[in-house]
Formats: sequence, C-alpha cells, structure tokens
Amino acid sequence: MAEITLNFPDGAQKSYEAGIKPIEVASSIAKSLAKKSVSAKLNGHYVGMNDPLTEGGDFQLITTADEESLDILRHSTSHLLAQAMRRLPKFAHAHFGVGPFIENGFYYDTDNGAGNQVSVEDFPEIEAMMKKIVKEDLPILSHEISRAEALETFKDDPYKVELINDLPEDEPISVAVQGEHIELDRGGLVPSTGWIKHFKLVSVAGSYWRGQSDNAVLQRVYGTAFWNAEDLEADLQRRAEAKERDHRNIGRDLDLFFTSQKVGSGLPVWLPNGATIRRQVERYIVDKELANDYLHVYTPVLSNLNLYKTSGHWDHYREDMFPPMDMGDGEFLELRPMNCPSHISVYQHKPRSYRDLPLRIAELGMMHRYEKSGALTGLSRVREMTLNDGHTFVAPDQLEEEFKSILKMTMAVYEDFNITDYRFRLSYRDPENTAKYFDDDEMWEKSQAQLKRAMDDMGLDYFEAPGEAAFYGPKLDIQTKTALGGEETLSTIQLDFLLPERFDLTYVGEDGQDNHRPVMLHRGIVGTMERFTAYLIEMYKGAFPTWLAPLQVQIIPVNNGAHGAYANKIKQKLQEAGLRANVETKEAKMGYLIREAQTKKVPYTLVLGDDEQDNQTVTVRRYGQQETEKMSADAFKDLVLKDVANYSRV
Ligand code: ATP
Ligand code: ZN
Repeated sequence: MAEITLNFPDGAQKSYEAGIKPIEVASSIAKSLAKKSVSAKLNGHYVGMNDPLTEGGDFQLITTADEESLDILRHSTSHLLAQAMRRLPKFAHAHFGVGPFIENGFYYDTDNGAGNQVSVEDFPEIEAMMKKIVKEDLPILSHEISRAEALETFKDDPYKVELINDLPEDEPISVAVQGEHIELDRGGLVPSTGWIKHFKLVSVAGSYWRGQSDNAVLQRVYGTAFWNAEDLEADLQRRAEAKERDHRNIGRDLDLFFTSQKVGSGLPVWLPNGATIRRQVERYIVDKELANDYLHVYTPVLSNLNLYKTSGHWDHYREDMFPPMDMGDGEFLELRPMNCPSHISVYQHKPRSYRDLPLRIAELGMMHRYEKSGALTGLSRVREMTLNDGHTFVAPDQLEEEFKSILKMTMAVYEDFNITDYRFRLSYRDPENTAKYFDDDEMWEKSQAQLKRAMDDMGLDYFEAPGEAAFYGPKLDIQTKTALGGEETLSTIQLDFLLPERFDLTYVGEDGQDNHRPVMLHRGIVGTMERFTAYLIEMYKGAFPTWLAPLQVQIIPVNNGAHGAYANKIKQKLQEAGLRANVETKEAKMGYLIREAQTKKVPYTLVLGDDEQDNQTVTVRRYGQQETEKMSADAFKDLVLKDVANYSRV
C-alpha cells in the first residue's frame, strides 16, 4: 500500500499508509489528542476526522482549544438545524440556501413555503429534534462527487442547484453526510453529531437570497453554539441584555420614532416623544455653543453641485452622496453630505481680519448620505441626519489652542450627559491607499503630528487608526459602545489645511495684507441627533433623566370627576415653569395606572385625591421607587426644576 508523509506544525514528519484517517493519526500521537481534535487541515484544506487521507503534505489537527474550532462547531450546528427541520413534518419540504458560521454563531437561510413560515415558537420543537440527532451521534463524513451527481442529489433543492451551477467548471464539488442528511459543503465540520451539545436557536429574520433585493425573501434562522454550557449561558445573557437595550426596541415601546419602507429606508420619523428628547439635546447644545462664542446660522440642505466639486467631495466622497438633481436649466443641485462648504460660504461672505479669529460658525445642519441599505440601523446609521456641526477658522498659531478648547468643551458636555465609557481614536490617512485622500504628504505628516502632540500635551490616552481620517485631514474621534457590542464614533474634531486652500480662504493679517490663509477645524460635539439619541436610549435603557424625559410628570387623579380640576391646575403650574406634565384621563384601577407610568419610565408620578386637593399638596412617586412622599405643590415644582438643572450628572 502506498505511503503518505505528513508534515506537522512543529516541524516533525511522519509517514503513514495512504487512507489513514485524521482520527487515527491523532490517536497514534496521543489518545487525549484524538479526544479533543475537532477537524484536520491538509495543505490548508479541511479534512474531516473520519475521512481518509489520500495524499501527504502539511497537516494540522484543530482542537477545541483553537479558536477556529468554534467556527467548526457552529458550522456543524447549522447542518444539524437543517437536518432537524427536515425531520419535522412541518418543514419536511423546506428548501435551504446557505448555512455558514458567522461572528457570534451561525445561520441557515430557509424557504419553507407560504403557509409554513418558521417562527420562534417553532424553536423548542426544532431544538428537541436537534438534541435527538445529537444523541444518535451520527458520524459526519465528507466526499467529492461529480457535478452530475450533485445536480441529481439536490434536484429538489432549487437554491442548492443554483449554487452548484455557479461553481467554476474545474472546482471539485464535495458533500457532507450525516445519517440521512446530505449537505453541499467544503468541510470544516465536527466528527459526529454527538459533539454538538451546547447550542441554541436565537432568532429568525427575513433575508434576500444572496443579498439581492430582486431575489426571493428567505427566512434566516440564527443560532449559536459553544463547547460548554457556561459559555453558552453567558452569551445568551449578553444577547438578552443587548435586546433589552437595543434602541430600536425601546424606540418602539416608548413611541420615540419609527422607520418604514413606505417613508424610505434610513429616513426615520421622530414621534412626539422622541422629538422632545431631540429638542432638549438641540437646545442644550446650541446654548452651550452660544456661551462658547459660536455663531449659529441656518444654511440650505441643497446646494449647487459646483460647491462640492470645489470642496473635493465630488471626487472623494461621491459614493456616499445622493445623485445630483438635474434642474433642466443647466443647474445641478446636490443634497449636502457635509456642512463644511456651506459654512465656508459664510466665512467668504465678508472680508475677514485676524481680529475675527477664531471665527466659530455652527449649525444643526441637516445632511444626507447614501449609506448602504445593509448598514442602516434604527437611528444610529441613517440616510438623513442632523449634525451638531461647527467649523472654526483660526490663524495657524491658534490651531492647537482651539483644538484643546473644543476637546475640553466636548468633555464637559459628556459630563452633563454622564457619558463615561468612551475612548479616543486618532484617525490618520491610510498610508497604503493614499488615493482616497487629498494628495499632500507634507500636510498629512504635519497635521497628524500636531494632533498627536495636542493629545499628549493634554495627557489623554488614545489609540491610532490609520485609514479612518476624513479625505481632507486627520481627526480625533470619540468612540463609544453600542448595545450590540459594536463601537461607533459619537463626536469628532478634525484638522483641515486643505479646504481653506481649495476655496482660497484668506484673512487680513496684522500686516494689513489680505493674503493670510486660515486653518479649519471641523467638529461635531454630540454628533448627529440621530446617533446621539440612539446612544442615549441605549445608555439609559429608556429611563431618561428628568431633563431629557419626554414626559416628566404623570398626574393621576384618584377620581377624574372629583379631582380632575385640581390635577389640571397642578399641570398648568408645572407647564408654566417649563416642565412637561400630563393628566391621566383614563378610568382604570389606580395600581394599573401607576404601573403604566412606570413602564413608560416617567420620572415622577403624582397621585391626587381628596387629601391632596384639600391641602394643596401632591403625593409623589419617583420612577423605580416604591415609597411615596407628600409635599406642597410648590415644593414639588422646585424639586423637579432642581433635578432638571442638574442634567444627568451624578
Ligand atoms: P462613520 O465612520 O460612522 O460613517 P464618518 O466618519 O463618515 O462616520 P463624519 O463625517 O465624521 O462621520 O460625521 C460626523 C458625525 O456624524 C460622526 O461622528 C457620527 O456621529 C455621525 N454620523 C456619520 N454618519 C452617520 C449616519 N449614517 N447616521 C447617523 N449618524 C452619522
Ligand atoms: Zn466639516
């Protein structure tokens, strides 16, 4: 019998009889190794533990200690899911698309026919069947088949047929078999179904076949799997917490905003409750800026396309821009993707002198970016957004000072919102892909070094990220975590030597010459209203501090007829003080109405009956507390005003 030689990762070489299986190779080394080996790789390709090795080469065993083994486990669990569904009468005729592992688990795309949609209610039954197949401990075996055989094998599964037909002519086709179930597969699977012990189906969502919107919508069933019960449990807990925090769920439960295909993808509608939160943030930040010598303006969301040709957006940022509107008279209008050119036009409107600098122009600027539909998420990634934008024009020697003062102001704002979990990112040009950026090596070197120096001077920790700069200059990004564990930029401060060149901006210097070039700083302190509100929703889990809460005081009369007038008087008193109050008019059990105010997370609930009315008092319950407190109506008003004035500071 022919011999093959295997080269092991540690450099050892051994010869075996051709046809030996990886499981036997592992056993020949150590029984314990065989026990924890999940799969093998020969010359970089997966070979199942039970599949014969017909040639030699670089050989590697993958054990449960290798990170890759989790992908193998999850990939195998997706096959187990398909097999289990096929065994259940309801899904016996399901068609399957692809079923890969993903970052945190796996999915399988399924087409169950109109009347047989799979839902989370089906999960227990499917999981029970999966467990049964695990008990059967079916060996998982792979082998190559011819294209004709493959087409015959999968003839009842149209998606698989499409996949087979799309494979290049010379590509070998392999299948994985476990019991009665067969999968089109490239390998990377556990030795038998008995290995898959700790798994869970987590959700199901619609998904276009092959991600293309003119294809059929399949049902994507998501699940996850781990090597031990504790890891699975911890992961499920993380998922539950994320779901509870997800701003899209809270936004729906608290009537804050919605998005719909009817209105358009990525174009959120702010409902009264969400609009109130946003208005509070807007008023807060505009006041803060006015107090810091910003000049607030309003500029158009649409501009002549030429403006973005001059700025360079048209060359460097076009794929994020909506197509221009041809007005038919030679003019092309463009929805702005950034506000910088608009603020530059404000700068250019008048001659500027060194005495005007730093000149700080700010706006709640609405802008439009054509984000990919797959990236759109609730309020945190949208196509229409309003940025708390500002552009400061400074003399070159004022740049570092201005940068530091913007950063200080940003950190003061974070304190008011009690945002503490963030990190600083210095975003540089990608040295490997300079075509994406304005071409001026010296400028990049200089401004990146300046940014770093300012941060070092302030003694702040940061990390550096090549490739994350704006096309016109490097930036400081403030990175925060989302409920789903991702990281996002909330605030940003950017240095820019280039747009002043492109627009030929000048100021009159002390020498009386109007030929001095200012430098620009672009900055967004709370960022876009959309992303910031999403962030606040997740951070507070919908229980907003009083100054942001859509409704601050819910007033419940014990009896509408008897106490309604008093309740309205209290409401008016609070409203006159600038507070947001509402009188409950529903007739229902007191306990129910109080609970309802709690689920809406209203900071204060007042109960008003005879006693309160006779003594001009209110009985107060704070959100999340059981105890109540009685006080005069005026004392209550002062209490809430004080709470509001404190923002979210702790
Ligand atoms: P990202 O990398 O997140 O796409 P960016 O670097 O393109 O953002 P900037 O041009 O710096 O973003 O925009 C300023 C701010 O606008 C960002 O700090 C971010 O908070 C916010 N922002 C950017 N894109 C979106 C979007 N699609 N939806 C909501 N907010 C956004
Ligand atoms: Zn800008």
